Amino acid sequence: MAKKPRLTSNKLLLSLVLGVSSFSLVLGMGLILAPKQYLPPKRLPPMIQSVAAAVPPTNTAQTKTLPPPPAVLAAQTAPQTPSVVMTGIPILMYHYVGNNPNPKDKARYALSVSPDQFEAQMAYLSQNGYTTISLDTLYAIFNKQSAKPAKPIVLTFDDGYIDFYYNAFPILSKYHLSAVEFIPTGLVGKPAYMTWDMIKQIQGSGLVTFEAHTVNHTNLTSVAYQQVLTELQTSKNDLAKQTGYPVNFIAYPYGSVNNAVVAAAVKFGFVGGLGTWLSRATGPSMVMPRIRINGSLSLANFIAKVR
Ligand SMILES: [Zn+2]
Repeated sequence: MAKKPRLTSNKLLLSLVLGVSSFSLVLGMGLILAPKQYLPPKRLPPMIQSVAAAVPPTNTAQTKTLPPPPAVLAAQTAPQTPSVVMTGIPILMYHYVGNNPNPKDKARYALSVSPDQFEAQMAYLSQNGYTTISLDTLYAIFNKQSAKPAKPIVLTFDDGYIDFYYNAFPILSKYHLSAVEFIPTGLVGKPAYMTWDMIKQIQGSGLVTFEAHTVNHTNLTSVAYQQVLTELQTSKNDLAKQTGYPVNFIAYPYGSVNNAVVAAAVKFGFVGGLGTWLSRATGPSMVMPRIRINGSLSLANFIAKVR
């Protein structure tokens, strides 16, 4: 059993500039972690001393830098739309990878990518020099403890659906791409969700790491604080017990988070949190953004999102 990270003694200093609505915290919060003693967990580098959680909740924050004026060669090439370089590292967010069993189920459609679409996307990443990384590696890069690979990208999957085992994982394996799956521990083994056995099989590949998503897929800003504490602590501990490694990251169900939830997550030793608002990750944060990938996205638009 791997040792869990000892972050519980962290002093947490939150500058609570704004109120506690779900998204407002990300605008004004400065978060400083000053661990008295930090024994690095197996998968995560030490020295997470300063966390700047300043991630705007909308896509207005995407910094776009136009390339310098084209050189002489430009006149000889076919006109193209100018390529846009966006700062930060994209964290993609998937839910279902499967054909929608009920086309009238619009909500499901918005959360589903077909296996064919998914394979085309993974083939594109594989054939165009992208490096899929875990969240631990993302933090190592942010903390300058690991060199930034070519075109880093994080693939995340929420909820632990069984189609990850049958549809997504074989495609990830085929292209040898790594991913992160967020597991609501209380739903494991229920109909439509993976079992612990499946999770362990996937873990054995070394391609996929599993991180927290509460116990019951609970909206953490709509329940009593005691339940927030229970959901965070129990899911972290149960997942660590099942996987044998420390669980350092949480995706807040529905992207719903406020200052109290962040403080609780830090208290229990989470070092990073992820939401569902659109942008790229630019540094360690308890409120990292993600890029939603859904079934209506063409490959061309997928390429534009990851470029
Ligand atoms: Zn979820």
